[in-house]
Amino acid sequence: MTNLSHGRHYLAIPGPSVMPDRVLQAMHRAAPNIYTGELLEITASLTPDLRALAKTQHNVAMYIGNGHAAWEAALFNTLSAGDEVLVLATGLFGIGWSDMAKAMGVTCHILDFGRAASIDLDLVGQTLRDNAKIKAVLMVQTDTSTSVKNDVAAVRRTIDAVGHSALFMVDCIACFGCDDFQMDAWGVDVMVAGCQKGLMVPPGMCFVFYSDRADAVRETNGCASSYWDWRPRTEPELFYKRWCGTAPTHHIYGLRAALDMILEEGFENTLARHAILARAVWAACDAWGQGGPLRPNITDPSLRSHAVTTLHLGKPHGTALRNWVSDQAGLTLGIGLGMATQDDPNSDGTFRIGHMGHVSGQMIMGVLGTIQAGLAAIDIPFGDGALDAAAKIIAGR
Ligand SMILES: *Cc1c(COP(=O)(O)O)cnc(C)c1O
Repeated sequence: MTNLSHGRHYLAIPGPSVMPDRVLQAMHRAAPNIYTGELLEITASLTPDLRALAKTQHNVAMYIGNGHAAWEAALFNTLSAGDEVLVLATGLFGIGWSDMAKAMGVTCHILDFGRAASIDLDLVGQTLRDNAKIKAVLMVQTDTSTSVKNDVAAVRRTIDAVGHSALFMVDCIACFGCDDFQMDAWGVDVMVAGCQKGLMVPPGMCFVFYSDRADAVRETNGCASSYWDWRPRTEPELFYKRWCGTAPTHHIYGLRAALDMILEEGFENTLARHAILARAVWAACDAWGQGGPLRPNITDPSLRSHAVTTLHLGKPHGTALRNWVSDQAGLTLGIGLGMATQDDPNSDGTFRIGHMGHVSGQMIMGVLGTIQAGLAAIDIPFGDGALDAAAKIIAGR
């Protein structure tokens, strides 16, 4: 039977993202010496570039691990059992981070803003006013399940308006390198990121950025774990201490190549590319929605991430669409993570498009054209002009 899925497969999910050939080629090599030489120099060169992307003069500790590892590292350095934190949840990932804090014996005050909204700042201010004991405020910049992008600077202003001394901790794992983030200008004390989304490297490396104020908290907190301790990883006396053991040799080469690509593009251009590609996706979705059931999870474009878009198609069509585009056209879309309801326990009505990292205009036009083919193939009505609308955005018109 004829099948159009032969050719280069496109994994358009919100992480792991598409890996550039240049990253893969940089990793395709014999293991390097881990005691002296090039690997040590390349590792040292990563720090200033990571700081530049986070727009910070502060410290960054690198770990072998995924995003969950970064979550745990951030918590272990700043909190201990019996501490209280405020969690601003706008989807699955805020809740996930708080589950990890709870497992450490930390009391979590959770403000849950649901699965299609951003943070209510008045409620945050009120909660902080009523809870002087809160030691840290935890939030997610882009929640990958709902694709909402929260206003980090506005939460900082709210904390300041109350005059609260809590540490401000932000999860940027979904959108680091895609959505603008300004650690110092926005007064963030701890930021966590991973390598497998905007940074285009296979999963396995993560980063905890921390301010001197957060480091002072670590001092009195007495970091509960020598593995997660960020201090030796930032100022190692010996190279192996940076990693608490063997370095992630090949990830170091891969990340160096990825950062080189971003620096050659110009980081502000990288951010602008993500903004344009995201707008092309939204333009197509808006047009499709005019004549059918497809609708974006986040209605206000100013609250949408440039890294990922969550869409509703109605049960069971989200899953049917994902299956069709994957089996028949070589495109994998993201599942509806954390969006289950009583009526739709498996989130079959929801899907996501990852548009983070190594993604170009032609790739996005390919994704959109394939989705339209899928809608037609599974007999879902959709409005006209979606691809024209997306092409106009790509054309800069
Ligand atoms: C992907 C992601 C995580 C978890 O990262 P893993 O590498 O899967 O552990 C956490 N937070 C956000 C916002 C994410 O997008």
